[in-house]
Amino acid sequence: MDIAAILRDIHETVSQSPDRGTVADYIPELARIDTGRFGMSVVLADGTQHSVGDAARPFSIQSISKIFALALALGRLGDRLWTRVGREPSGLAFNSILQLEHEAGIPRNPLINAGAIVVTDAVLAGNAPREYLGELLRFIRAAAEDDAIHINESIALSESETGHRNFALAHFLRAHGNLQNAPHMALGAYFHQCAIEMSCEQLARSGRFLMGAQGHPRLVSPGRVRRINALMMTCGHYDGSGDFAYRVGLPGKSGVGGGILVIAPGRASIAVWSPGLNAQGNSKLGTEAVEMLARRTGWSVFG
Ligand code: GLU
Repeated sequence: MDIAAILRDIHETVSQSPDRGTVADYIPELARIDTGRFGMSVVLADGTQHSVGDAARPFSIQSISKIFALALALGRLGDRLWTRVGREPSGLAFNSILQLEHEAGIPRNPLINAGAIVVTDAVLAGNAPREYLGELLRFIRAAAEDDAIHINESIALSESETGHRNFALAHFLRAHGNLQNAPHMALGAYFHQCAIEMSCEQLARSGRFLMGAQGHPRLVSPGRVRRINALMMTCGHYDGSGDFAYRVGLPGKSGVGGGILVIAPGRASIAVWSPGLNAQGNSKLGTEAVEMLARRTGWSVFG
């Protein structure tokens, strides 16, 4: 299978697309990103990597960071994490507060904002955000085998100044006794983890530990890899998760920076970036690109 040729075709098709979606303008620093950008990178099980477009250009991984934080939290707490957060798709927007009130401060899953704030809070466990962020960066750098991966401080600051919905969620969690750290501490850590930057090339490499193939970094057990992939499949695209599963058929996690990490178990780790988002806050052309890739390669977890 000629992945390089498939990527070239995908790049050509998306570059002709008249509708590129709209950038996330609720984080001012993200509002300035050019929607003309597009990058994609694929690491195959044999270790070869193929990339196209702006695949070497760093972007804000935003909610894709929730996958790495979840891996750390499961390593630290194991199944005890599930007393504080559920494992069901929410069917609501990523930053919704509605369900949290109905369900007494237990977020539906670790990949919506409320759930991710709980996960970060659980790993933080009274330590300084700096220590948590150091541990998270060490995990991601080991996964990507790249020590250059870093946090963009101006994006973290931009979100800290404007992230009122996330503050509301954190205070609500705290009121229900489901936040151990002060809201500004948990959110300081959360905003900084969202502000980690990676290129598609780095992101695809960092996802190899979820591929379950020999010869790649093995940072979590095979059983845990399956569970993280299951959560990505059911919850990784917010209220667009069912649609993503239907169209792409592979577990994936999106971020409002326009990136998506997609895993083809046993076959590939895939990263795509196009900053324009669809109505559910997931990359519009990024989704179309992985849909094309899945169709051309036949990769699917559904047979
Ligand atoms: N930092 C973003 C927020 O909390 C992440 C959301 C996303 O990437 O989907 O609003």
